[in-house]
Amino acid sequence: MYVGVHPLAGFDKVLHYRVPESLGAAVVVGSLVRVPIVNRLHLGIVGEIGAPKDFPVEKLKNVAQLVQPFPALTPDLLSLAKWMAAYYACGIDTIIETMLPAAVRNDAGLKIEKMLVMAEKLPEAELEKLTKRAPQQAKLYRFMVQQFKPVKKSLVLTRLDLTAAVVAALVKRGVLREEARRVERVAYADEWGSGEVVAAMPPLLNPQQRAAGEALAASLKADKFGVTLLHGVTGSGKTEVYLHAVHDALAAGGGVIFLVPEVALTPQTVARLRGRLEAIAPGQKTVVWHSHLSEGERIDGWHALASGEARVVVGARSAIFAPVQNLRLVVVDEEHEPAYKQDETPRYHGRDVAVMRAKLAGALCVLGSATPSLESFANAEAGKYQLLQLTQRVDDRKLPHINVVDMKIEIMNSRGMTTLSRKLVNAMQSRFEKREQTILFINRRGYSSSMMCTDCGHVEECEHCSITMTYHRSDERLRCHLCGAERPAPMSCPKCRSVKIRWRGLGTQRVEEAVRRVVPRARIERMDADTMSKKHLFRQVLGDFRAGKIDVLVGTQMIGKGLDFPNVTLVGLIDADISMHIPDFRANERTFQLLVQVAGRAGRGDRAGEVVVQTFTPQAEAIQFSRQADFAGFAASELKMRKDFRYPPYRHLIHHGFRGPNPEKLQFFAEQWAKRVEAALGDKVELRGPSPSPIEKIKDEYRWQLWYFTAQVTKVVAELTKLRADFTWPDDVTQVLDVDPMNM
Ligand code: ADP
Ligand code: ZN
Ligand code: ZN
Repeated sequence: MYVGVHPLAGFDKVLHYRVPESLGAAVVVGSLVRVPIVNRLHLGIVGEIGAPKDFPVEKLKNVAQLVQPFPALTPDLLSLAKWMAAYYACGIDTIIETMLPAAVRNDAGLKIEKMLVMAEKLPEAELEKLTKRAPQQAKLYRFMVQQFKPVKKSLVLTRLDLTAAVVAALVKRGVLREEARRVERVAYADEWGSGEVVAAMPPLLNPQQRAAGEALAASLKADKFGVTLLHGVTGSGKTEVYLHAVHDALAAGGGVIFLVPEVALTPQTVARLRGRLEAIAPGQKTVVWHSHLSEGERIDGWHALASGEARVVVGARSAIFAPVQNLRLVVVDEEHEPAYKQDETPRYHGRDVAVMRAKLAGALCVLGSATPSLESFANAEAGKYQLLQLTQRVDDRKLPHINVVDMKIEIMNSRGMTTLSRKLVNAMQSRFEKREQTILFINRRGYSSSMMCTDCGHVEECEHCSITMTYHRSDERLRCHLCGAERPAPMSCPKCRSVKIRWRGLGTQRVEEAVRRVVPRARIERMDADTMSKKHLFRQVLGDFRAGKIDVLVGTQMIGKGLDFPNVTLVGLIDADISMHIPDFRANERTFQLLVQVAGRAGRGDRAGEVVVQTFTPQAEAIQFSRQADFAGFAASELKMRKDFRYPPYRHLIHHGFRGPNPEKLQFFAEQWAKRVEAALGDKVELRGPSPSPIEKIKDEYRWQLWYFTAQVTKVVAELTKLRADFTWPDDVTQVLDVDPMNM
């Protein structure tokens, strides 16, 4: 038997090998193998069975090793890898490496953990001596005496703060014994549900939920590929509808992938899912998948799915590559979230890949959101996706009332800059008196986005990047949010020595400070990337907030994701303009999504919610439509604009970025390249640029860019890939293609 193998690590091609008798039938499509290339062994994935067409089989080398008894990639994953390599213009080896966790590739075995066991007790007298002579050893001994089972050595060391030498001493004495054991570190025993999973019975579905659930059940029964867009207003109970489908898929013996935008930010969602899954499919293991897993957890979770021991995975973007067997259902929650797009190679969009995987596996894909992406919505309107809608909040709760405050008028009335409008201050104070909670969103961390000298107009910029430095008052420093460079904030203008310095633009710190002034007795917490550098802090603050120990939570959109706090009756959006005035054709869509999503955090309990939106452009469409939570109106108006300008979803966009130390060289090569593309593909693609990127310099590298607009994306990517290989790029120019970029 002969096989074609995709070797990993820099070989973007198929090489053929003979399968020795000893391995025989165990080698199948998708198997992870080791094969000789020149005189080293490399990992590879079997891509096809069969002899090469134009190479004498006698000359083929043998497959050296089969790494695992079961295939590492299911057939649908292998097809997906081929599709992704072509669509996102990168090597199939890169894609396969993305699909297979590093831990699985490197070792593929189940990790063995060192355990400590009590071997022999010490007589009292000995112990007393030990306590005096070697107190650390005595401490370890006492701890071990209380243990009934073997304990992880690493755990003991950190818990008791001991060095390995202390353990070694007791082992040498024969008091303790070290044992190697296979321990389950599986992600389903993971921290997000704080260990224990509590089965939570599902509520009785309301009529809209039931109708949606039944529609999904019917689609699942059809047992073939299909996409359903579940558009349900915030708080309409979409999760219960997904779970209905998850139940059906499991009952039919199928596997399920459940994607959420950022697991680390949604421990609550994950815990709730696991509790519900425990109730609808008792004993069914749910693998949790995200970037914070340890290597061991990842390997075990992966094995559990690949071997069929577990059939459900809940996770972030990369969980779409989980080796789930017999995939029947893929759920993409908050499908509009830009977090689904990976911003490094391979630059894939998790939602689009989810649709494609479902297609290749013949499964049902459910995309859900209160603010669907216009791409998905256009597909639903065109009849490619089935559209299901939930228009009511559960228990007939009202959508919150949205007040839009014109900050131009506010400033006029208060004769100066204000951070918090009168309306918001009053609302916050009355909430505090009633012991109800408030969330304030401001999409920028730090104190203010720039410092400007009012005498000479000087603005402090990063010396490595072409953006302004953000002022952080907590430690009186200026920081660059792109490269992390920082320095002490100057007391006077570095250029003209004037002390008339003005802080422009609001950040979380400044809002927090303003809140302390107006509700001095309230307990206030700030939640942004600066205060939440550790994820346990994040969970602790959310826990405190839920328990009512915090009155006002101030944070970036980091806290806007899918949170469900029944006692929050007021939400303030401090500066709605931040997302509106960015040079991106999705600026309106982003703003609309942000407004509806943050407003959706208010009034999720029995009391009605209220929202205050502060803006300098109250008449903007994104704001007006979000006031009425009018998604259909917004989508119609925005899609018309997109159609007029032939932006996505009417055409695809490809971004070509060029980076390097020398801007003239970048320009020269970008222009040469553009001419080449124009000549080769002029009729299939519209070029815009090349031009300097909006941020011209990051980390001392200059940046240029070129845009391609096309209706034939696959063809154009294939052509660009060929042209790119033939073009001679200088060593100090890095160029990156991004197909369907999410940021401009
Ligand atoms: P969405 O994701 O649509 O914003 P969720 O799925 O988070 O909404 O549901 C909002 C809240 O309503 C949750 O606390 C959920 O447990 C609850 N819920 C959902 N469906 C029902 C129902 N049929 N009856 C009672 N409560 C429900
Ligand atoms: Zn100055
Ligand atoms: Zn910088």
